[in-house]
Amino acid sequence: MPSPDLTALLAEAQRCILAGAAETGMRVAEQALQLAQERHDEPARLQALGQMGTLARMASRHADARRWLEGADAGYAARGDAQGMAQIAVQRGQMALDLGDYGDAIECFARGMQHASAIGDTLLSSRFLTGIGIASARVGDHARARDAYAKALALQRTLHDDAAAANTLHCMAVLELREIEATRPGQPTQGNMPAALQLLLDSLALARATSRRRLEGMCLNELGHAYRLRGGLAAVVDHCEQAIAIFRELPAPKDECDALLHIAAAELDAGHLDAAIERAEAGLTLALACGFRPAERDARDLLVRCREAAGDIAAAFAHLKIARDIDAQLRDGEVLRRIENIEHRRTLEQTRQRQAELEAETRALDHLATTDALTGLANRRALESASDRLRTTGASLALVVLDLDHFKRVNDRFGHVVGDVVLRRASLAMAAVCREQDLLARWGGEEFAVLLPNTDLDAATRVAERIRHAVGSIDWTDLGVSLMITASAGVISGAAATPLAELMQRADEALYCAKSDGRNRLHVGRG
Ligand code: GH3
Ligand code: MG
Ligand code: MG
Repeated sequence: MPSPDLTALLAEAQRCILAGAAETGMRVAEQALQLAQERHDEPARLQALGQMGTLARMASRHADARRWLEGADAGYAARGDAQGMAQIAVQRGQMALDLGDYGDAIECFARGMQHASAIGDTLLSSRFLTGIGIASARVGDHARARDAYAKALALQRTLHDDAAAANTLHCMAVLELREIEATRPGQPTQGNMPAALQLLLDSLALARATSRRRLEGMCLNELGHAYRLRGGLAAVVDHCEQAIAIFRELPAPKDECDALLHIAAAELDAGHLDAAIERAEAGLTLALACGFRPAERDARDLLVRCREAAGDIAAAFAHLKIARDIDAQLRDGEVLRRIENIEHRRTLEQTRQRQAELEAETRALDHLATTDALTGLANRRALESASDRLRTTGASLALVVLDLDHFKRVNDRFGHVVGDVVLRRASLAMAAVCREQDLLARWGGEEFAVLLPNTDLDAATRVAERIRHAVGSIDWTDLGVSLMITASAGVISGAAATPLAELMQRADEALYCAKSDGRNRLHVGRG
């Protein structure tokens, strides 16, 4: 059997995400993740991880979703992949929406917008705008929601992003419907019903065109809901039945329950008590089977009204009591979840802080380990690692070794303190005339080395001469002692692949020649 292709698995998982088939998608994405890990394919691994997070979120497995999404986010951040981070921000914002943490959602979407605009991805920007719209609508800021939706839709239309436009249209319709519902009798009508219907029909057409089955079901369900607000039973039943068929096929039991309750409410409005009770009981059974507490509460609330209308006060009271218990539990659960969320964020923040501290400590240690304490120049170890790095490039290089002349006399005559000042000042003078790409190091004592990558002997000789001249021209008058400091240098060139010890030995031999020729001069080692 041919091994399953990673690209095909990722594409299949993506299809499941769009179709709302969470469980199937999760199995496919898990397979993709495993394969990507085996193949050490990091981009594919992060993509699969993001998909698993998305699918877990869709299946309301929030802890798993958070873990996977954060894993993917960290991976993308490590790669500096703004596109990936933006994709994850979509999911994290969406999860915050699911959890009712709207402030957090707006924060996630706004961060996502930054990543998206950093890479000029207007398509993603538009999705973040939709997210901001949804979160604003939930907190009752309808003006901001409308504004964000309108901007999102305009972008999505220009980009021909039908899948995203379908979603935005649906959100816009829901906003209208919520306003219509919230309008109290006798108050001026809020929300525009014809607009809501048109938005839903447009969204439905695009959902169908882009094979987004769950959204298609949601549009049909909302259409049913809209017709109920207008008082048309047949249209409610017709649309909600179509939605139910889709939700069963996916399956999407929570949505199915919602649609059943829409029909039940419409039947109740029409005075069809038996039909209403039958639908509401079906919704309740489904909610109980799946453990959907808010749906169970809604079903029981409807049953309270049905049973009351039917004169069965005892049954109505039984449902009412359970519904209020659920309300209390949901409120407690909400509080606990918020606490958990805050604790989680705090742990995350502490981890990040510790990470930053560790990185700073590592940088400080690196600096200490590669810097000469007296002069601040690179030390021998730094020169050795630079040479190791250059060895793999296969290029050529030059090496200059410098030694201060008769330095022992400086110490003997003026003491070590003056000797140290001379070493520091000479180091500064040498560094000032090296080129950007040259590495000047204190090799030890009053001996220095300069590694010059991709440099031939003539160019290296010019640099060495500049250094010799710079040392000889230092003004020492402020020290109050009569000083004349000069340096001698050996210059050689060679292949970068040559071990440093070998190059140093040749440069030292050249330096020895410069010393025996009378000092304060260069000797260029040929061959
Ligand atoms: P030459 O021209 O042959 O190089 O003569 P020289 O006196 O410079 O040679 P030598 O290598 O014998 O002496 C180097 C001196 O550098 C010996 C040591 O006291 C001094 N020295 C090495 N490191 C330091 C340091 O960190 N501070 C001070 N003040 N002196 C140092
Ligand atoms: Mg010396
Ligand atoms: Mg010496």
